[in-house]
This record gives sequence, C-alpha cells and structure tokens, in this order.
Amino acid sequence: MSNAFFKIPEPINDPVRSYEPGSLDRALLKETLANMQAQEIEVPLVIGGQEIKTGNVADLRAPHDHSIKLGVYHKASAKEVNMAIEAALDARSNWAAMPWEHRASIILKAADLLTAAWRPVINGATMLGQSKTVYQAEIDAACEIVDFWRFNAYYMTQIMAEQPISSPGIWNRVEYRPLEGFVFAVSPFNFTSIGANLPTAPAMVGNVVLWKPASSAVYSAHYIFQLLREAGMPDGVINFIPGSGGQVGNPVMTSPDLAGIHFTGSTPVFQGMWKTVGDTIHEKKYYPRIVGETGGKDFIFAHNSANIDALVTATIRGAFEYQGQKCSAASRLYVPASIWPEFKEKYVAEVNQIKMGDPTDFSNFMNAVIDRGAFEEITAYIDHAKADPDSEIITGGGYDGSKGWFIEPTTIVTSNPRMKTMCEEIFGPVMSIYVYDDDKLDEALALCDETSPYALTGAVFAQDRFAIVKMADYLQNAAGNFYINDKPTGAVVGQQPFGGGRASGTNDKAGSATNMTRWMSVRTIKETLDPPTDWRYPFMDSK
Ligand code: NAD
Repeated sequence: MSNAFFKIPEPINDPVRSYEPGSLDRALLKETLANMQAQEIEVPLVIGGQEIKTGNVADLRAPHDHSIKLGVYHKASAKEVNMAIEAALDARSNWAAMPWEHRASIILKAADLLTAAWRPVINGATMLGQSKTVYQAEIDAACEIVDFWRFNAYYMTQIMAEQPISSPGIWNRVEYRPLEGFVFAVSPFNFTSIGANLPTAPAMVGNVVLWKPASSAVYSAHYIFQLLREAGMPDGVINFIPGSGGQVGNPVMTSPDLAGIHFTGSTPVFQGMWKTVGDTIHEKKYYPRIVGETGGKDFIFAHNSANIDALVTATIRGAFEYQGQKCSAASRLYVPASIWPEFKEKYVAEVNQIKMGDPTDFSNFMNAVIDRGAFEEITAYIDHAKADPDSEIITGGGYDGSKGWFIEPTTIVTSNPRMKTMCEEIFGPVMSIYVYDDDKLDEALALCDETSPYALTGAVFAQDRFAIVKMADYLQNAAGNFYINDKPTGAVVGQQPFGGGRASGTNDKAGSATNMTRWMSVRTIKETLDPPTDWRYPFMDSK
C-alpha cells in the first residue's frame, strides 16, 4: 500500500522523426524492413498468456506486392472466444486490485520501449502490412501510440483526482472502479495506433479485455501485443483473438458478461454490433458501455477569400495521404466558381506529380490500398463516375491490381452535388468536387451539412473572418473535428481530441479524459463522521 499521491509525468507529444538520408533511424528502419520481408512469421492467438494455434489460418501479405508473404495468422472460433472470456474474467480481480500506479507503469514502459528498440519494428510492420509510407507509419504507429499511452495514463489520474465537496461532519468521496465483466476491443485496419489504444485504454483503469484486430492489420497488431507483454502486461488482462468479424464478434456480444465495447471501424458494422447487444440486453448482467468511432464523408469547404495554394496543399494531403484510407480523409470539396479555374490548374498540376509505389522506396507519396475487397469497392466508384454524365475525372482514374492494389489519386468534378461519390464513404484515394456559385454560399453550406449522414471531420478555407464565423456557425454539427485553414486529417493526441457525431460515432474522443471515463464505474462513498443517534428532527419538538 502506498501512502502517497503519485503524479504521472506530464506528457508531451512524441517528436516525429524525419528519417532523412544518413540518419540512424533510417538505417535501422531499412534493416528491419529487409529482415521482416525475408522471413515469414506465424501469429497465434494469445489467451490467458497461452499461445494457441487453431490451424484455421490465413495469409498475411503486403498490399503493394502480392508476392510478399509476411506470414500466416491463426483465427479464433466460438470455442476460443469462450476461452478468452473465461481467461479475462479469471484475471480480473487481481488486475482490478493492482494499485493504479503499477498499471500505469506497464503502459508508460510500453511507451518508452516504443520510442527505442520497438520503434523500427512497429513502423516496419505497419509499412509492410498496411502499406504506409515511412512518414505515415511514424505519425501513426510510433508517435500516436506513444501519445495515447502517455496521455491516457495522465488523464486517468486527472479523473481520479476529481472529488465531490463535503459538508460539515461528512466526508464524501468517489472512487473509479473498472467495469465488472470484460471489454471487447475491436480495431480497424487503417491505424496501428487505434489497435494499440482500444484494448489498453480500458485495461489501464483495471478492465480486462478481448482484443480483435482487423484481419488486414494482424501483422502489426501481433507486434503490438508482443511489445505489451515485454512491458509487463499480465496474462489474461488483454486476450488477443484475431479472426473473422462475425465468428469472433457474435459469441462475444451475446455474452452476459460483456461490460463494454471499444470499437473503431465502419458504421454498418458498429450498428450491427449495437443491435446484437440490444437484442440480448435482457440476458446481460450489465448495460454495456458502447463506444464507437465510425465512418466519415469528410469535407473541405472553400470560400472565395481562401488562400488557393494552401487549399491545394490541404486538399492533396487530406485526400490522398495513406491512399485516402483515413476516417478523417477529405473526400468532398466545395469550391466557389470565382476561384475554381486557378484552383483547378494548380491542383491538377500538383496531383500529377504524385509518385505511387512500394513503401520501402521512400520517394513514394502513396502506396497501395489495403486489400482486394477495398480495391474492388473503390474502383467501382471510379467506374461509376466514368459512366456518369454529370461527372468528369480530372486526375487519375486508373488502377492496377496485378502486382499490388494500386489506385491513382482520382478527382471527380460533378455538377450534381448529390452524386453518389459526394455522399458515400469511399475510403480510398478519390476526391469529389462540386463548384458552387459565389452568390449561393448559404445553399452550398446547406448541401455540405446535409449531403451525408456522417459528421466526423471537416475544414473551411477563408481569409475573410466574417466568412469563417459564418461557415463555422453553419457547420456546427457537421463535424466533430473542425479545421480552419487546415486539412481535416492528422489529429494529434492531447491537441485535437478525435471523434465525430451523427453516423460517425459516439464522439467519446479517443485519447481524452472523456473516453477514459467510459471505462470507469463510479462508486460514491458518503462517510458520516459523527452519525446522529436520535431519529427525531428538531421541528418535531412541540415547544
Ligand atoms: P470494418 O468495419 O470493416 O472493420 C472494423 C473491425 O470490425 C475489424 O476488426 C473487423 O474484423 C470487425 N468486425 C467486422 N464485422 C464484425 C462483427 N460482426 N462483429 C465484430 N467485429 C466485426 O472497418 P475497416 O475496414 O477495418 O476500417 C475502415 C472503417 O473504419 C472506415 O469506415 C473508417 O471511416 C472507420 N474508421 C473510423 C475512425 C474514427 O475514428 N472515426 C478511425 C479509423 C477508421
């Protein structure tokens, strides 16, 4: 028992490393990439600390080169899911009783390991398994994970420090318990950091977790899990159960012991999970906390006072970095007619200079999309635009899946503001543009607000301050992360807490105190120091 109020070191964002030629970081990363490509690994499930090989395996392949096999992973079925639930519940009482500073120490150690020896491993796995440039891997798999871990530990202590007032003779306190039961963490393919955050945020405050990573990100998730083990995460606290969504998800969500879901992924999957929980709520021991960050149809809205060069840069980075596979990626742009000709000329000239290819060639700005399914869905949208009489493709439009899943940075200009590609999440390198009349700003803002069911990120560009005020006001509920004169991607933990409303999620802001409170169940304690010993009240005195 510690007789002290410990303080978590005040976090600062992990500096983004440059990987410039001649640097040690670059040399180490190149060496790691070569080693990883030269060997195939076998990824087991890990349940209660036991490595389990089910024999039901799938390949791990590099999206940019079908011939690179990184290994295989074993998939969980209902049997292993039930084992994982049991292992988690067995681990719960010891973990929940562990003093918080020791749980925090494990996470802070993991963050430190990632700033050193594990950095090239996690970055390399993300580059090869999810096809990211070194910069995209660095800001995701290194910096953002370190930030999630250090900031969340800090937020945990800020929350615990929050205490109620007391009146004379009474001492009121609240304590922040972990949830009873277990938490189900389900992560998407596109950010290694989300995979690292979803299980560890609940675990840090004493919860036990089942973690199902996306099938196309199992490679980096495996290394994250190994890193957590090296940092001292005890057996059974986080159980690693890759596998097909439905086969793993359904037995988990119908479990009476499900206490929470920490999800990031697409809107339809999240809605399906919510429905399954609802359908079985009468069999559950608890009302599960359901936290989900889901899809987006993120916008850039330009005013005619916008700085055109800044708008061009933000549109290119926002739409095409990581092949547009960011939930925050810009995928629709509203431009006023007066600046359209100049914008178009500069934009097309710049997009045509983008180089695409293998992430191990550091000169590429774009790599491949994640898998065949994504490739087919995205290219179907491009084909739709090609056949649409209201639309014209002004950049890209080509694709080639013969070596890897490559799609050119594609820009569609449409005269129909409700054209399919203006409304639906595409999750690929496809930007749709609608040019509006300068004197119809209000109508264009209404279109931007109402065209899609999502409200994740959005950006406005203007130099005119009255225009900025008007746009920010009009679009108040159109985005959970709103940017002024900046691209709508690249949120940083501690600086721009991330999440959206409407169909984009529960807006619990990953990497924030708001999110951390969802994994805590408050017990209020009222202690009366000198309890009354007579049940009669003074007003009852007849005199
Ligand atoms: P996805 O919805 O296909 O998969 C997400 C996870 O859910 C995967 O682990 C998948 O296996 C699992 N899953 C699928 N069916 C399931 C089921 N029935 N039960 C339980 N789990 C199930 O998403 P994805 O393709 O991996 O990621 C892309 C999506 O994620 C996009 O829609 C994107 O906008 C969204 N996303 C949102 C955010 C955000 O913060 N809002 C961040 C990243 C990604």
